[in-house]
Amino acid sequence: MHELSIVQNILDIAESEARKNNATRIIKIGLKIGEMSGVVADSINFCFETLKTNTIARDAELLIDHVPLMGRCKQCGADFRIKDYQFICEKCNGNEIELISGKELQIEELEVE
Ligand SMILES: [Zn+2]
Repeated sequence: MHELSIVQNILDIAESEARKNNATRIIKIGLKIGEMSGVVADSINFCFETLKTNTIARDAELLIDHVPLMGRCKQCGADFRIKDYQFICEKCNGNEIELISGKELQIEELEVE
């Protein structure tokens, strides 16, 4: 499963960060997941619960922050939410859209002790 290796990677990063800070426990991991990041939050949660058991994150809480898919029109400069993957400006119908958010998949917050 795609999400399994992603979660393993997240845990690896969190653990090495915790060790750098001489922490022995990970309390909270905050993740940013974009609408178009290609991962399913439910699967991330499921894999996290499975993989965390033998790590210093065994009691950690996983918080997922969903980032909406947002675009900026190159013609009129409008920012708008992209719905149903329609890359068309809602103001001028322009189709040169620059993505400004929605592809995130990163650790945003880490709480250790
Ligand atoms: Zn426009």
